[in-house]
Amino acid sequence: MPAPPCASCHAARAALRRPLSGQALCGACFCAAFEAEVLHTVLAGRLLPPGAVVAVGASGGKDSTVLAHVLRALAPRLGISLQLVAVDEGIGGYRDAALAAVRRQAARWELPLTVVAYEDLFGGWTMDAVARSTAGSGRSRSCCTFCGVLRRRALEEGARRVGATHIVTGHNADDMAETVLMNFLRGDAGRLARGGGLGSPGEGGALPRCRPLQFASQKEVVLYAHFRRLDYFSEECVYAPEAFRGHARDLLKRLEAARPSAVLDLVHSAERLALAPAARPPRPGACSRCGALASRTLCQACALLDGLNRGRPRLAIGKGRRGLDEEATPGTPGDPARPPASKAVPTF
Ligand code: SF4
Repeated sequence: MPAPPCASCHAARAALRRPLSGQALCGACFCAAFEAEVLHTVLAGRLLPPGAVVAVGASGGKDSTVLAHVLRALAPRLGISLQLVAVDEGIGGYRDAALAAVRRQAARWELPLTVVAYEDLFGGWTMDAVARSTAGSGRSRSCCTFCGVLRRRALEEGARRVGATHIVTGHNADDMAETVLMNFLRGDAGRLARGGGLGSPGEGGALPRCRPLQFASQKEVVLYAHFRRLDYFSEECVYAPEAFRGHARDLLKRLEAARPSAVLDLVHSAERLALAPAARPPRPGACSRCGALASRTLCQACALLDGLNRGRPRLAIGKGRRGLDEEATPGTPGDPARPPASKAVPTF
């Protein structure tokens, strides 16, 4: 049976049905609708004002590739300029290939690219070194906890280096729904309170961040990349199978099979959450070491690095909260997981 005509242009044959609405569209009309929806998200949320210098967190994966492509198309209309900022976490057998994809994108789209590396920013620590260290303490499942905190800091640093006024990341609706589920499952009221909305306004001197693809489903991001023939890196990080996020993803898939709107329902529920004053996180101050935004004496990144340098990564995660307020002491020389001693924990 031939495909029905496109419900938008009525000229071409439909190439897909939109997963949520069921609307049958041709590839060109789907891509135009997708871009219009991202534009609406940016304008309605007043995310990127005219004149903004926008650092796009570029990983080489589908989400950031689609985000950069769409924003490049919308940039003249929004009056913004773009810079790609990629983070090299130091993950052997994974990140090099992903960074190669980012470099090809930057060259093809004629966008400036800056790469910042954990190893340079964080006193010699790479994610592979962190993984060896946390495995030794029985915490290998925590890699993504460390990586998420350090990547946030690295992206901020990269964005500042290029003179950006705003940061955008490629998180899509599925990513956001998984995060909401994880925060519920952990009973993390503070993160739930911060997780709603389209990003953070830039408290405490941090650059404003937003997620223009927050209402786009993962399926539609993949479809957009397909119809625009985008070149992206699609392999999974070697540490991803250990992550707690994988359980939230499986649960979400089952929820979505029973209720197709489950993903967006979760995203919107996080936006609408209103916490009682007692459940709200404390007003953030400045990290005593690096000056970044912190709700304790040390910011999360400095606390994690502190625990790693002391050979006690548990201090900074899970139950070892006391370590967050402790001052750093020298780590154990000769630890194979320890980075070169000549490099100091950074200050920004
Ligand atoms: Fe980092 Fe985890 Fe993502 Fe790998 S899967 S890049 S370790 S956050």
